[in-house]
Amino acid sequence: MELEKSIKIIPGIGPRRYDLLNKLGIETFHDLIYYFPRAYRDFSNITPISSCRIHDEVIIRATVTDISSNPTRNKKMSLVKATLLDEDGNKIKAVWFNQRYIVKNLPINSTWYFSGKIGFDFSTREKTLNAPEYQKKPIILPIYHETEGINSKYLAKIINFALAHVAISDWLTEEQQKDLNVFSLPQATKQAHFPQNQQCLTAARHRLSFDELFFLSLKLQLRKSRFQSFPAPQITFDQNLMANITSHLPFVLTQAQQAVLDDIVSDVTKQHPMTRLINGDVGSGKTVVAGLTSVLVAKNHYQAVWLAPTEILAMQHYQTITKLFEDEKISVGLYTAKQQLCTTNVHQKKGQALKDQILQSDIVIGTHALLEDKINFAKVGLVVVDEEHRFGVVQRGKLLLKNKHLVPHYLAMTATPIPRTLATAIYADFDISVIDQLPKGRKKIITKIVSRENRQKAYEFIHAHIQAGRQCFVVCPLIEENKQEGSQEKELFELEKKSVKKEYENLRTKIFPDLKIAMLHGKMHSEDKKNIMDDFSQKKTDILVSTSVIEVGVDVPNANIMMIEGADRFGLAQLHQFRGRVGRGTHQSFCFLFTENATEKIDQRLKALENNDSGFRLAQIDLNTRGPGEIIGSRQSGYTGLKVAHLTDTITLAKAKKFAQKIIADGLDKYPTISDIINSSHAQK
Ligand code: ADP
Ligand code: MG
Repeated sequence: MELEKSIKIIPGIGPRRYDLLNKLGIETFHDLIYYFPRAYRDFSNITPISSCRIHDEVIIRATVTDISSNPTRNKKMSLVKATLLDEDGNKIKAVWFNQRYIVKNLPINSTWYFSGKIGFDFSTREKTLNAPEYQKKPIILPIYHETEGINSKYLAKIINFALAHVAISDWLTEEQQKDLNVFSLPQATKQAHFPQNQQCLTAARHRLSFDELFFLSLKLQLRKSRFQSFPAPQITFDQNLMANITSHLPFVLTQAQQAVLDDIVSDVTKQHPMTRLINGDVGSGKTVVAGLTSVLVAKNHYQAVWLAPTEILAMQHYQTITKLFEDEKISVGLYTAKQQLCTTNVHQKKGQALKDQILQSDIVIGTHALLEDKINFAKVGLVVVDEEHRFGVVQRGKLLLKNKHLVPHYLAMTATPIPRTLATAIYADFDISVIDQLPKGRKKIITKIVSRENRQKAYEFIHAHIQAGRQCFVVCPLIEENKQEGSQEKELFELEKKSVKKEYENLRTKIFPDLKIAMLHGKMHSEDKKNIMDDFSQKKTDILVSTSVIEVGVDVPNANIMMIEGADRFGLAQLHQFRGRVGRGTHQSFCFLFTENATEKIDQRLKALENNDSGFRLAQIDLNTRGPGEIIGSRQSGYTGLKVAHLTDTITLAKAKKFAQKIIADGLDKYPTISDIINSSHAQK
């Protein structure tokens, strides 16, 4: 494979440069050609001299009217000064140090495109253009991620060499390229580095995005069809039994919950495993749906195993499930690294070790600890994963293999709602059910951004509510004050971060000395965490100060105020998730967003939270303003491996998905080139 040749053979790459390039992840011609620019300098994007502001990076098109080289005042260097005149008749001085040859390169009356930074000459009190690059034609230059010793100019040079010395073959036939209306791959790679113009650049990036999204989509769709080809535990559905179970619940299912349950029932009664994602808003009641599915599976004499991302959440699920289904004569176990509990099992043998009892429970709830090799289950029929994106494919795959003969059904739940287009792209290996409706009677949570001046008022408000019997959460962005040596700016920045401990001390001693305040953070022992959570649930404490660990699952209906410090540090989806911790009881609830960084942009972003109570809507705003990383975390960065494509590019996404569907429908074996790529290590990553 030509593309797999080492870059060592490129003239000018010695051992030192080779090592540096390795640090950038470049070892082969392929790596080099796929090292795309992070930005471009477009020499056709001209600024008139009259609009140039100090510190701006600009391109100007101007004629040299005067140029000379002189020694600097201390005679140590030479200084080239040129007067540049643009077509509006405005002038600016360009300056270069120690580049006398420039005088020859830029003859008087010649016209160029100059690119540089605007500075200020204090002696003449004039703006200057500092050491500009110059081009005869309005070309577009690539700007790469650089490292010391490797700059963009050098990268452009060796990439140009690479492009000229290997033949890139296209996995799309010419006909397919035409049908899809995309550049050829050789054309796209060349134009992505050295675009002729903006249209070519757009087309090049479109083709490269298409490739990435196509292979991602194909990989996920193949994974799904492979998974669904295995035999699964067959569940029989008894309408009366289900009606009986739901009648014991303390509420009636919402229409949306019922619809999802119907989807699930139709999946699990088939012979192949379900792979379904419940995409739902915070507080929409995903847990109950997963719980009902688990009970159904248990009644069919299979186990349901729940994987939760944190100890607190596992514990909370254990308590919820135990309580919701206490009439169903099923056993529930909790298995985490630090906590092992189990309800009495009707089938339990005397003298059996606790661990064995837990692992044989009808429903086993736990954390990563359940993924250890030594853990074995008798009969897994269903795997439920909460916050699926926190686990890798391999990790969750392990659980699915715990049942040797059959592949269990698989149900995942999102922590925060994911916009539909994004969900279908990154969860292409899932069928998706949406819960876009909250249980009836939920009051709107009144959300307010609290400015510095109103902080005291907010405290008084909280105090009054606690006196009236309610409770309050306080979320802080950091665990401990980070004392860092450094610039003043940095110290200020660090000081701004409210630490849980500091906030706890502050509230306890100064703000609310008469109230009972507790603190919770991720580094505590799970025993302590559990006690603190229990105390708060049982109303032994009034205020719970915590880090973002509170984010998941905590359910205390009596708490009606959520106060968030440093709110600007969190994404909207996450803030919405915090807010979802209140509004669970009958009392009017409130969410106060404190921020010390009052810029207009931050204010605008947080305003969206004041004005929206739909998590789907907020996630869409997050997606538009901060990109998809915010919403889907590791699922995006972890294994989509996108370099050029954006998941927000719905047009390319739809095109890629459709083409992947066609390939699968036709049969991958009809496309040997594509099948080779999918099976090669590049695509497996
Ligand atoms: P999430 O989707 O965020 O995981 P939960 O499953 O924790 O939501 O449910 C949030 C709260 O709403 C819980 O206290 C749960 O008991 C309650 N709940 C769930 N479904 C309903 C319903 N249909 N009617 C009323 N309350 C419900
Ligand atoms: Mg939940």
